[in-house]
Amino acid sequence: MILGAIADDLTGATDLSLILSRNGMRVVQVIGVPDTLDAVAQQADAVVVALKSRTNPAGEAIEMSLDAARALQAAGARQLFFKYCSTFDSTDEGNIGPVAAALMTHLGIDRTIACPSFPENGRTVYKGHLFVFDQLISDSPMKDHPLTPMRDPDLVRVLSRQTTRPVRLVPHETVRTGANAIEAAISEEPGICIVDAICDDDLRTIGRAVAGLPLVTGGSAVAMGLPDVYRETGWITSAAPGDGFVAPEGHGVILAGSCSAMTRRQIAAARKAGAPALHLDALEIASGATTIDAVAAFVEAEAPRSKLPPLVFSSADPDVVAKAQAELGRMRAGEVVEELLAGVAARLAGRGFTRFLSAGGETSGAIVAALGTSALRIGPEIDPGVPWVSALDTERPLCLALKSGNFGSETFFMKAWEMLA
Ligand code: ADP
Repeated sequence: MILGAIADDLTGATDLSLILSRNGMRVVQVIGVPDTLDAVAQQADAVVVALKSRTNPAGEAIEMSLDAARALQAAGARQLFFKYCSTFDSTDEGNIGPVAAALMTHLGIDRTIACPSFPENGRTVYKGHLFVFDQLISDSPMKDHPLTPMRDPDLVRVLSRQTTRPVRLVPHETVRTGANAIEAAISEEPGICIVDAICDDDLRTIGRAVAGLPLVTGGSAVAMGLPDVYRETGWITSAAPGDGFVAPEGHGVILAGSCSAMTRRQIAAARKAGAPALHLDALEIASGATTIDAVAAFVEAEAPRSKLPPLVFSSADPDVVAKAQAELGRMRAGEVVEELLAGVAARLAGRGFTRFLSAGGETSGAIVAALGTSALRIGPEIDPGVPWVSALDTERPLCLALKSGNFGSETFFMKAWEMLA
């Protein structure tokens, strides 16, 4: 392993994993901090530890991040990367500043950068100000985020409120001059440098400038320049995106618990294309009328006789969801569906199913937990942001595609299966 990354949430970890993978690194994503990363470190150039620390109290976020840092270092990481959201999601209490500062103290260093820029997604930093497409972040919908409202666009000011470490700007004029100029600006004095970046070329130049720093902090895009330098240094050879991913033979299933508009379109498209489908109703699950046994039996019966895998979905129109929530409560309605889908996944894995596609962020979390895996090799990307992954820590080989509700194109389910053919 060369790069050890700590991501403050799961989707952010996948995002970073994909950027590293696209740029030729073999990547394993780990959910939570295991006792040891030695086994996975041998199979990867980069290990990305996915935490759930973005909105925890700062002290907790620091502890989790330091645990991850220690595990990554013990497994041989030569450089650490602290990954947060490209909208710099944080409050005056943290967690970006406190975690970055704690990692610096842990590593015994006094210089790093902070660069959330992600031009492909419309996030740029200019004169230290964060933009979301054409708006300052403080004018964007992020100003009203329920947990981390961003009301100040000046990142030097924002970060200065979160840490006692000095914070200063490396302006775009310096970035444009090149990697040496950026490196010189960073080494000038101790502190955390907010680095301007308005396009991918800037990020690649910054990557070159910071490849020698023990710690880099930023959005996932600032990592895109690192693999080139590792290759030139001879630390890695080039891997094609998804190298090392093997789809095990066996039956598959699609489990959808997302009610998002895109997932519902994907379901409609898969049904039209002939996928055998079973619709679940939250109230029937709660009453015991729909059981794991019955749903798993449907999938087992249909899988051998269909080209597309069976599709089990609870996804429904907002009025149907509202009715279930009114009767069961919002949380309970979500839980009964998640528990059923996760139970079906576990049952099918026990019966030899090897390929699982799940739709929905929470749904995917429940299914991954039920399948008992927390180390995932990043495979080929199906649609932007969603790769096939293979489990490295299950008794029998499994591959999974975990999709957030709104991700993927309308034909995502078919496309995912074609990729395994
Ligand atoms: P997304 O990524 O689209 O947000 P999630 O899986 O994160 O999808 O969230 C969807 C939530 O809705 C889950 O908790 C799921 O169990 C719940 N849910 C799914 N179908 C229904 C339904 N028919 N009635 C009530 N809740 C549902």
